[in-house]
Amino acid sequence: MIIKPKGTYDVIDKEAVKMQRINRLIDYFCEFYNYEYIRTPIFESKELFHRSVGDSSDIVTKETYDFKDRGDRELTLRPEGTAGVIRSFIEQKMYGGSLPRKFYYNGTMYRYERPGNGRNREFTQFGVEILGSNDPAVDAEIISMPYRLFEELGFKDLNVKINNLGSREDRDKYREALVNYLKPHINELCSDCQKRFDVNPLRILDCKVDGEREILKNAPSILDYQSEESTNRFKKVLEYLNYLDIDYEVDDKIVRGLDYYDYTVFEIVSDTEILGGANTIAAGGRYNNLVEQLGGPSTPCMGFACGLERISLAMDEFEEINKRPLDCYIMYVNEEEKLKAIMLAQDLRISGVSVDYDTTGRSLKSQFKEADRNHAELLIILNSEDLKSGLITVKDNLTKEEKKIDENEIIDYIVSNG
Ligand code: ATP
Ligand code: MG
Repeated sequence: MIIKPKGTYDVIDKEAVKMQRINRLIDYFCEFYNYEYIRTPIFESKELFHRSVGDSSDIVTKETYDFKDRGDRELTLRPEGTAGVIRSFIEQKMYGGSLPRKFYYNGTMYRYERPGNGRNREFTQFGVEILGSNDPAVDAEIISMPYRLFEELGFKDLNVKINNLGSREDRDKYREALVNYLKPHINELCSDCQKRFDVNPLRILDCKVDGEREILKNAPSILDYQSEESTNRFKKVLEYLNYLDIDYEVDDKIVRGLDYYDYTVFEIVSDTEILGGANTIAAGGRYNNLVEQLGGPSTPCMGFACGLERISLAMDEFEEINKRPLDCYIMYVNEEEKLKAIMLAQDLRISGVSVDYDTTGRSLKSQFKEADRNHAELLIILNSEDLKSGLITVKDNLTKEEKKIDENEIIDYIVSNG
């Protein structure tokens, strides 16, 4: 038997129902918030991720799926969605058109990680990016939109952790202060953080091991190293969040793993127990330098990404998730009735009625059971005798009431009663 690769999974049964529910709500929300759908390749040049996500990030140092194709090209399975969107924005010269562009994507990502609760090697991220606006109202929308979406899916007690990394200059000043502060303590840090100390010291702040230690709790705060412009900008973001009634907490230790962030960064955390340590369901931030870094014109941007598997996992704690009931199930016995069933099913489906019928030669009794298993609301029971006089029997599966309907009126009848 061939089994699936480690860290991948099949979306079937209840998982499939939950995923579809999430995906539909995503499409619905994005339409109302005016985001355009974008789809970019699942593999891109390896260089794209080195130049965007960053050489010192966890993703690039140990998580990417890199490979050479038969033409010797160096490629990488995308570990996140932003780099591809920005590559496309530049390559398709979208910066020349009307801005901002508001995009959303929803697709699989690949990271070579240790699989566990809410952590897979192939996983799905939904994310949005607003390209071409530095307005703090954009920051507030990028945070409030997923927050409201998660509420709609049943999440309660969501909390936003938000921080301000400031401009490159603000961050460089802070980096120096942090390095000076940590230098005498370097031997007390975990082995990962000892490496981070040289390449990316800010990442030490949100280390899962060292983050709890006194040395880090007493470390200088990045918020004290911001220019007046940056501090005022952050205040404006928080003010908008207050007006939008979003529950947030300023946390000066949030840095995020990707190297390209500046100014606002945030995480949306759920205290749903089932998630355990994997309780960050969405994360994002502003990245005003990335477009330029990848060869485009200076363009301020902000986005977030969220993992659908973690959302789905949490949904197990909300309500019972059931497959949507079928509007109608059609029953037949002989070939003449079957032909009618097939045609009727097509007409009803085109009219927006969900319909199915048997294709395994079941007895009429088993077809009734199958209709119940699908929670069918109406039953169409075809029989040759009725068909001769142009009639079709419809039964309400709940009240068990039966009616004979004129063949020519059956579609209208089902549409208005289904
Ligand atoms: P973590 O700290 O949990 O590793 P991260 O910082 O790597 O998260 P991001 O790169 O910001 O996460 O990705 C955003 C979201 O994507 C996460 O909050 C999570 O919901 C989801 N995600 C990230 N990696 C995985 C994975 N390996 N499996 C499933 N979901 C993931
Ligand atoms: Mg990670």
